[in-house]
Amino acid sequence: MRYDYLIVGGGFFGARLAVELGRAGQQVLVLEREHDLMQRASYANQARVHGGYHYPRSLLTALRSRVNLPVFSEEYADCIDDRFEKYYAIATNFTKVNGEQFRMFCERIEAPIRRAPEKVQMLFNADLVEAVFTVEEYAFDAVKIKQRLIDQLAAAGVEVRTGTEARRVKRGPQGLIVELADGGGEQEVEAGRVLNCTYARINELNRASGLPEIPLKHEIAEICLIDPPEELGGKGVTVMCGPFFSAMPFPARGKYSFTHVRYTPHTEWHEGMGGADASDAYAYLERLTLNSAYIKMLADAKRYLPSLAKAHYVESLYEVKTVLPQSEGDDSRPILYKEDYGLPGYTCIMGGKLDNIYDVFKELSRNG
Ligand SMILES: Cc1cc2nc3c(=O)[nH]c(=O)nc-3n(C[C@H](O)[C@H](O)[C@H](O)COP(=O)(O)OP(=O)(O)OC[C@H]3O[C@@H](n4cnc5c(N)ncnc54)[C@H](O)[C@@H]3O)c2cc1C
Repeated sequence: MRYDYLIVGGGFFGARLAVELGRAGQQVLVLEREHDLMQRASYANQARVHGGYHYPRSLLTALRSRVNLPVFSEEYADCIDDRFEKYYAIATNFTKVNGEQFRMFCERIEAPIRRAPEKVQMLFNADLVEAVFTVEEYAFDAVKIKQRLIDQLAAAGVEVRTGTEARRVKRGPQGLIVELADGGGEQEVEAGRVLNCTYARINELNRASGLPEIPLKHEIAEICLIDPPEELGGKGVTVMCGPFFSAMPFPARGKYSFTHVRYTPHTEWHEGMGGADASDAYAYLERLTLNSAYIKMLADAKRYLPSLAKAHYVESLYEVKTVLPQSEGDDSRPILYKEDYGLPGYTCIMGGKLDNIYDVFKELSRNG
């Protein structure tokens, strides 16, 4: 069977791209190695629908977030929690922006911002926090998004094979051939174009196909799930920008996610930049014995937000987080889009956050 498009990876990017292409009348097959869609980074993340606030050091990412936020929020309106109050607090010391700079930045990108009410300011340690703002930010429910995608895929006539791994891509007589393996054995499928949407494993498929690695930075990230203290119920909090942590709703589990910029990354490495070959990022994660950094996260965060001491730790999600090396300096989140990467018709795609999908659509249509 020959497809117009074969998409490797059934995370948010692969699945949502498949919907778009299926709606355009293309014959599309999605391969996902897990038992279900959206089991990896698209599930184990902070669930923040970005409104630009996070990116005072990358104006472009902040502005793209402002453009994409309403589109994403409308498309996934019933998969989003927008009922909680969201606060950004600016630390006094070791911060890369001060309160006034943050306020001006938000005005520049036209992101709603106002001084937080006094009773909310009181939750923070006034010696360590310079300013607290009320902002508009939401959280998405990855399980609801998955369900929506399953419906969208079916309506768009897309074929999905879970429990199926793409092993290699090679030239075929009329396009590309993908070697795949499922529980039943190995097989070859032909497609006009192949989109590699495997996020942390993009280079795994490239290497196996004899293609060069793309420079990427990976880290093993820990997302703690907590029951928040009463004081934080119905609120989401981010302290930035330097000493940086967040506690906000994680709707897929009815808990809060708790992350800390210093302790969430347990280990990190680069690929495709001449360093040691870390090989398969998932296999690396599975091999690691990880001890939660919750105690360290809490010890620091409760200095800024004392009520956090009353939070209850539930469990941690560990996942590989992959970004482009250029994001290290300014924390930007551009998309990776490499058309005809080493093989005509083979494209590698990665988004640094879910709403980047609309930037990928633009690239795809620009490239026909
Ligand atoms: C810790 C963390 C926090 C984050 N916080 C946020 C946030 O708050 N907000 C936000 O918008 N974004 C956030 N992100 C980024 C966001 O999660 C990613 O941008 C997005 O999930 C990437 O989607 P994806 O489909 O490319 O990747 P994934 O969801 O990882 O999908 C890739 C899929 O490919 C499959 N796969 C891999 N290799 C193969 C193969 N050879 N054959 C078949 N299938 C294969 C995998 O099983 C996986 O399902 C965060 C990410 C992490 C890790």
